[in-house]
Amino acid sequence: MSEVSDADELAALATTLKRHLERRRRAGIRFSPKADPPQAKAVNIKNDSLFASAAADLFAGTPAGTQTNSLEELRAAIGDCQRCKLCSARTHIVFGVGNPRAKLMFVGEGPGRDEDLQGEPFVGRAGQLLTDIITKGIGIKREDVYICNVVKCRPPENRNPEPDEVAACEPFLKKQIELVRPEIIVGLGKFAVQTLLKSNVPISKLRGNWHSYHGIKLMPTFHPAYLLRNPADKKLVWEDIKQVIKELSGENT
Ligand code: URA
Repeated sequence: MSEVSDADELAALATTLKRHLERRRRAGIRFSPKADPPQAKAVNIKNDSLFASAAADLFAGTPAGTQTNSLEELRAAIGDCQRCKLCSARTHIVFGVGNPRAKLMFVGEGPGRDEDLQGEPFVGRAGQLLTDIITKGIGIKREDVYICNVVKCRPPENRNPEPDEVAACEPFLKKQIELVRPEIIVGLGKFAVQTLLKSNVPISKLRGNWHSYHGIKLMPTFHPAYLLRNPADKKLVWEDIKQVIKELSGENT
């Protein structure tokens, strides 16, 4: 190959790479492989054929279902999402953060104003309280858990997500859970818990007891934003979190 064609080839490669990075940037892919490394192994949910087949059905024929063997691929499949009306007012898609192999996962309702602006879940006042629960209460780092929401875009004025918005976004939450495969999910607040459990039972009745999300242990508790308004109920959340700590430490096995 001549020097000129080598140079041409290099230039073409650089252009392709530049376009690829530009597409990723437009798709809102914020994390680097270092911060959120791709998982090499394919997802294999043990002893949970219900979950496996439900996930397969959900993703059959959808872009998210094709090659999403990692959180990074899932985020790329979501792209510059226009699947529901929440896309029109959002600043950032708030996908999720944390350890892709976390044992413990927290699921909230949807991004608020701070989260929408920063592109990260639970970074506002409620987020600070959640961080305290994780770091001071459980005694682990925020980066050691995985944190995400039912819907990935902020509902206007922080209203509850509507059924069509949940329907559009829930498959991505299911896939996140399938990829991370946590041992325990903590459901934060009525909306997240009722969505996960497909239940209308009040959060005050659901909290404090173990439930199953397709074979994964689920502990419902009050939402940190509720605790900011009702600090007296922090002691109930502490009771729930103590059960989570016990389960994580293997005391119940
Ligand atoms: N409330 C939520 O449910 N999620 C966030 O990310 C922030 C506040």
